[in-house]
Amino acid sequence: MIRTVLSLLLSVLLLSPLHAEELKLQQVAQDVWAIVGPLTNRSPENLGNNATFGFVVTPAGVVLIDSGGSYLGAIKIHETIKTVTDKPVKYVINSGGQDHRWFGNDYFSAQGAIILSSRAARTDHEKRLLNQLGRAKALIGEEKFKGTREKYADELFDMQTTLTLGGFQFVIVHAGQAHTPGDAFVWLPDRSVMFSGDIVYVERMLGVGEQSNSKSWLDVFEKMAAYQPEVVVPGHGNPVPLATARKDSYDYLVTLRKKVSAFMKDGGDASDISQVDMSEYNYLLNADTLSGRNALKVYTELEWE
Ligand SMILES: [Zn+2]
Repeated sequence: MIRTVLSLLLSVLLLSPLHAEELKLQQVAQDVWAIVGPLTNRSPENLGNNATFGFVVTPAGVVLIDSGGSYLGAIKIHETIKTVTDKPVKYVINSGGQDHRWFGNDYFSAQGAIILSSRAARTDHEKRLLNQLGRAKALIGEEKFKGTREKYADELFDMQTTLTLGGFQFVIVHAGQAHTPGDAFVWLPDRSVMFSGDIVYVERMLGVGEQSNSKSWLDVFEKMAAYQPEVVVPGHGNPVPLATARKDSYDYLVTLRKKVSAFMKDGGDASDISQVDMSEYNYLLNADTLSGRNALKVYTELEWE
């Protein structure tokens, strides 16, 4: 009887929409893991972890790429790491300026981890702090956001730095503004794995926001792609080969810029931006809400280029 109830309960849990908000652990190479969060917006269920994170288990401890979207979200990430290893998290690299890249810093810092980011990302963290706190809190809810507070990086780099731990090298490169002003990618030469942060979105549409620059985003992608990684752990979505990262992020941006540019040359007005036909990218999740917004942001960028 108890068994029936338990299995019934289990199937209910598995079928519940909450399950879709869970973090998914995926090994991408020896000692290298991706933690794939949902492609939805921040919510009380996902604790702001609506992104993809990664970690490497070295003999000297764990290096985590991005700390999660809240204090409780960071604990969730740590619990996921603990299913693989009981080694401590020694370093956290913030790959960019968005909340889910760094709102868990305070938690991991208290566990003894050293936090690293580009100088540009740190400036962005400071500049958008109140804005990001307000937005995340509104979406995640006061209760689940409890304990979240800012903790900026302990160590900064300008363009590039190499972190070495337990025989592993992490080449961290800030090649310019992409989704956010301080985006950086993390290259793991020993395993041919690239952690791209928000430079790459797959399966869901990327967002060209106020803090983004679509032109320099393309340059940054090229610099990242030049490493020819076997696996890309994106900022959003599942780990993929480089070709998929290119298709869903780079090609999308190139097409968007080309089409918006043609629309402007034809005398198109910003108020008619919905006429720019990007329907070939409707297979990407969130296309309905982001397509028009992205086109409009690119329109303003192109006015100034
Ligand atoms: Zn993001």
